[in-house]
Amino acid sequence: MRKSLLAMVIGSTLLSACSETKSPQNTATDFSYTVEQFADLQILRYQVPGFEDLSLKQKELIYYLSEAALWGRDILFDQNGKYNLLIRKTLEAVYQNYQGDKKAPEFLKMEEYLKRVWFSSGIHHHYGMDKITPGFSPEFLKTEIGNLENLLFYKEGQTAEELCELIFPVIFDPKVMPKRVNQADGEDLILTSACNYYQGVTQKEAEAFYAKMKDASDETPISYGLNSRLVKEHNTVEEKVWKVDGLYTEAIENVVYWLKKAEAVAENETQKAVISKLVEFYNTGDLKTFDEYAILWVKDLDSRIDFVNGFTETYGDPLGMKASWESLVNFKDMEATRRTELISNNAQWFEDHSPVDKQFKKEEVKGVSAKVITAAILAGDLYPATAIGINLPNSNWIRGQHGSKSVTIGNITDAYNKAAHGNGFNEEFVYSDVERALIEKYGDLTGNLHTDLHECLGHGSGKLMPGVDPDSLKAYGATIEEARADLFGLYYMADPKLVELTLLPDAEAYKAEYCTYLMNGLMTQLVRIEPGNNIEESHMRNRQLIARWVYEKGKADNAVEMVRKDEKTYVVINDYEKVRTLIGQLLAEIQRIKSTGDFNAARELVEGYAVKVDPQLHKEVLSRYKKLNLSPYKGFVNPVYKASYDDEGNVIDVTVSYEEGYKEQMLRYSKEYSALPSLN
Ligand code: ZN
Repeated sequence: MRKSLLAMVIGSTLLSACSETKSPQNTATDFSYTVEQFADLQILRYQVPGFEDLSLKQKELIYYLSEAALWGRDILFDQNGKYNLLIRKTLEAVYQNYQGDKKAPEFLKMEEYLKRVWFSSGIHHHYGMDKITPGFSPEFLKTEIGNLENLLFYKEGQTAEELCELIFPVIFDPKVMPKRVNQADGEDLILTSACNYYQGVTQKEAEAFYAKMKDASDETPISYGLNSRLVKEHNTVEEKVWKVDGLYTEAIENVVYWLKKAEAVAENETQKAVISKLVEFYNTGDLKTFDEYAILWVKDLDSRIDFVNGFTETYGDPLGMKASWESLVNFKDMEATRRTELISNNAQWFEDHSPVDKQFKKEEVKGVSAKVITAAILAGDLYPATAIGINLPNSNWIRGQHGSKSVTIGNITDAYNKAAHGNGFNEEFVYSDVERALIEKYGDLTGNLHTDLHECLGHGSGKLMPGVDPDSLKAYGATIEEARADLFGLYYMADPKLVELTLLPDAEAYKAEYCTYLMNGLMTQLVRIEPGNNIEESHMRNRQLIARWVYEKGKADNAVEMVRKDEKTYVVINDYEKVRTLIGQLLAEIQRIKSTGDFNAARELVEGYAVKVDPQLHKEVLSRYKKLNLSPYKGFVNPVYKASYDDEGNVIDVTVSYEEGYKEQMLRYSKEYSALPSLN
């Protein structure tokens, strides 16, 4: 497999590199990985190799879990912004009802906007967080809304006029809800963020609400606020819990319906208990039950099929407490999993030999399990843009006492790689033939390995000092956590232990990862940032933090250079060993910050290295990238699963197909899996 740098630069929330795996069996040329391209997005397709070889019962299980996954879609739209569902439904109605010229510029711009709204699960850019600027006029939309026959979008008797008044400022006025998640230091992060996790409360009120709830002596705290919206009504602040009979009940009831079907065909008792506990959690909304579920889930290691389904990641909340809904259904890739098992079997050795201060290390690394999986369906916050590696659960004490499950998604990475083949990226941005040869020879392998180390070891390493609040780094917590995992991986990439374990072929290989990582962190990831903007997203912040810090500290010895050649800037590493030493130093410091909850040091590092962009360099990178005509972000359409039944209603077969297009899929999902009201 050819190294795809594109996959490194352009991916998804958890993308730090790409993951190697067995190629799909079916590499026939009739499978097209590319679906379409618009705005800054490219839509790809992924295959599900091995699905046909599963037993009927396993296929049935995947089918039910997939249905449960798809039913959560509207939840995410609503979480991402109060008016997202209303706007999506309005636009879809207009789009499908449109009688005019389908080549008219205004219509095409509206279509593109709608495609972007689908992609972002809302009106803000999925990654940059800024509101998407529509390329069509309010007049156009107003006329088309006027042409609609059925107009029941949020309340009985509502007029087109009222609808426009409500949603037009949200769509068209750049000053209204400009950012989904604002992390600007010093501002009220809740009032300035458009996400729908809080209504009517200030940051101070929210922090006070949860501070009162927290008990510092509790060694097994629940994930406070994880599954609710915090609202202030009649001067009282309270949580509206997402559960059956609570907020989002219309969607959650459907999720539960399919989960129960899945429970009935579970592979074994352990898995059955996992699903049953999840159903209990959806029914009660009790976060203690959620922790019990997470513990059962982390111990389910023998099942071939696995899933994520629920309120999981907290990147979408400026305070990092409330979790967006996501789902991933998958099954284990047996062959590729051997590599990650080798890493986890040696987890204690890696922990013991890291450059971190002894007091911050785990005496005993527990249950670092790792596997390579084949995704069968992506949903919620993992669709259409997805992670290629996942490490869960997120609760610190559960990770400490029960371990965590770490996966890399083989078939997704494979699709990235295949789609990126020969796109000219390396030729443009890599300094010389020497580096290109390194990347060509080792890049695939090292990229995959770095992801594995990040997920299997990085996130699971280290410990908090007694009494330290896991949320004490607040808005900087996510960046620091990702930096910790990346640094742990980078540090060990250069360790002879990896050659000894036969994970790397020789002592040169790691250099490919150092090249691509620093180039990405210092330069090429900037292709994702609009001119004039800072870096907001925590994985991107983490990469720039590491690359800038290493560059600045290594400057004196010329360890890393930013070279100008033919009026272009390149990142060149002159002293790889020195770079590794610096990576070790930063890892030790970042772990200290995490372990002691040193908020000020976290702020200093993040604000000092991770946020600001050199406008001159940014401009150059954007113009070089533009010439390649590549999309900086990618997402996927899902395969379509169809179950056939006998006369008694038993499933007799489940087939998978790959023909569905992007907008067809989005419109179908909106039609078949939409239960929530337009405003919640
Ligand atoms: Zn991570």
